Amino acid sequence: MRTTIKIPATIEGIGLHKGRPARVTFLPAEEATGFRFISPLFKEPLPARLDKVAGTARGTNISDGTHTIYTVEHLLSAAAGLGIDDLDIEIDGEEPPAADGSALPFATALRKAGLREKPDQEQKKLSLAGRLEMTKGDIRYTAAPALGVSFKLTYDYPHALVGKQVIEFVLNPDEYLVRVAPARTFGFSHEIEALKAAGLALGGSLENAVVIGEKEIMAKGGLRFADEFARHKLLDLIGDLALSGLALNNIHIEAERPGHAGNVNFAKLLVEKATQ
Ligand SMILES: [Zn+2]
Repeated sequence: MRTTIKIPATIEGIGLHKGRPARVTFLPAEEATGFRFISPLFKEPLPARLDKVAGTARGTNISDGTHTIYTVEHLLSAAAGLGIDDLDIEIDGEEPPAADGSALPFATALRKAGLREKPDQEQKKLSLAGRLEMTKGDIRYTAAPALGVSFKLTYDYPHALVGKQVIEFVLNPDEYLVRVAPARTFGFSHEIEALKAAGLALGGSLENAVVIGEKEIMAKGGLRFADEFARHKLLDLIGDLALSGLALNNIHIEAERPGHAGNVNFAKLLVEKATQ
């Protein structure tokens, strides 16, 4: 059985990378159409799927070949984390609002809209028959059959204020909302000038990101979790895996030093090896 939302919900703000005003409206989806973006830029709704990924620099971007929607992962993470299968996402401009840098405003809006099950539509699931592994340098992903859906994610960065953070998480909507959705985007102060020069993080500020400086961590209201960075990486991973168009099922996933490019490649491998 597939799930969508009951009523529309809108979120406004500015985009993280482009820095322009941004608005999304989540709409119920009657058919089994997965997550789709609807914009005057596109003739048809653009499915948020792996074959539409057009870039993974600092965020996951999807494109119809002409126009691109940037930074889709936080919003998709919220939808997938809450167990939603089908959602139409009306978007003004080319990037969702950065909100507070986390998935919490999206997840809260979706929860408030309410979830609706569609008993006559079959949920397509991503299950594995055996273990699989993908490595590139010190980046490593594994997946194996398990009971339920669980993750172990390691974030490791050689910085005195960061070091190694490990988060283990059993996925269910209530726990996602409390333990994963609130974790914010972060960046290192030494990268920010270069990012802005490359046309990225233009809307970034302490309103929507945690900034790690040489000697201090700048976070509005302080860090939300001691391991907020690892949790945010998990949020990103859940969002990127949602591009498979399948609901994770009876699977344990481990990721060491994941990033968007690795997440997308791993999602492709999972789909290729999935038993469904
Ligand atoms: Zn992120």
